[in-house]
Amino acid sequence: MIVAMQEGAEPEQIQRVIDRLVTMGFEVHRSTGERQTVLGAVGARADFDIRDVEVMPGVQEVHRISAPYKLAGKSFRPEGTVVRLKHGITLGASQVPVAAGPCSVESRDQLMRAAEAVSRAGAKLLRGGAFKPRSSPYSFQGLGEEALKLLREAGDKLGMAVVSEVMAISQIPLMSAYVDVLQVGARNMQNFDLLRELGKVRKPVLLKRGIAATLEELLLSAEYIMAGGNYEVILCERGIRTFETYTRNTLDISAIPIIHKLSHLPIVADPSHGTGRRDKVAPMARAAVAAGADGLLIEVHPDPDHALSDGAQSLYPEQFAKLMDEMRLIAPAVGRSVA
Ligand code: PEP
Ligand code: MN
Repeated sequence: MIVAMQEGAEPEQIQRVIDRLVTMGFEVHRSTGERQTVLGAVGARADFDIRDVEVMPGVQEVHRISAPYKLAGKSFRPEGTVVRLKHGITLGASQVPVAAGPCSVESRDQLMRAAEAVSRAGAKLLRGGAFKPRSSPYSFQGLGEEALKLLREAGDKLGMAVVSEVMAISQIPLMSAYVDVLQVGARNMQNFDLLRELGKVRKPVLLKRGIAATLEELLLSAEYIMAGGNYEVILCERGIRTFETYTRNTLDISAIPIIHKLSHLPIVADPSHGTGRRDKVAPMARAAVAAGADGLLIEVHPDPDHALSDGAQSLYPEQFAKLMDEMRLIAPAVGRSVA
């Protein structure tokens, strides 16, 4: 932390700040200029609040130099993390795998048709909701274990890894028996008890950015999982809430290169929830891959007009196949390949 004292700060004020920094566990290096004193505080601790120092008398400004997350930060693993799934699927290496499927698993017929279509088009992960976090308690809440069984059956039949959302700690054992990747939804990004439990699981976690979460908060949530010993975290940019109402959310494409700078964890993009509109999904998917996304998450439904959730943002199978063809052109242009 760098603490710049105000011009003319009293020696007692400077000393009080130094004492405070020492109490916080820092080693303090003082540099006294002609008009101003600057304190450099170094130490291993990450859990401090710079405002504690900012509000002290005589302090002009304070800057944090070290990130508040350690395990999720780039310096922990500068070479990058590669999450390996079954069937040779990797996230964070040269492949850009696509996870696709319906928002909710609605029936055997619906899931099988969706799975076959996305697999044929080149998706390597099958994604579908079994437990759904719906804004209204009266909306379809998901088929639960029946959906998990169908996802597993379809995934095994088609050679795909399976992703589904876990909403509560109590669902972890059941879900772990069926899925290859546990998704944490935007609404649960700061469900710290859930994150802590997922730290004990030996299965990759796909952690979605909360609708109003900063990237620092996203990385601190990843830190919760990693602090428990589970280092297989895949981040997901799924759009944030802004003042724009045309789209359901605003997909923050810039999050992709920023996360690559700040963290070693792979980041995938979800243009389906990021836009909420079927006609905007493909352009944003193309942009995300061009910006360096390590994977995509796309909602596809065999009959989106009758979907029980997120129909408006679900692609028709033909649209998805066309998008995958485009991916096969875009990914190599940025040194990647669609898995
Ligand atoms: C989903 O993935 O279907 C979902 C509910 O997403 P989010 O948590 O990003 O809203
Ligand atoms: Mn959805």
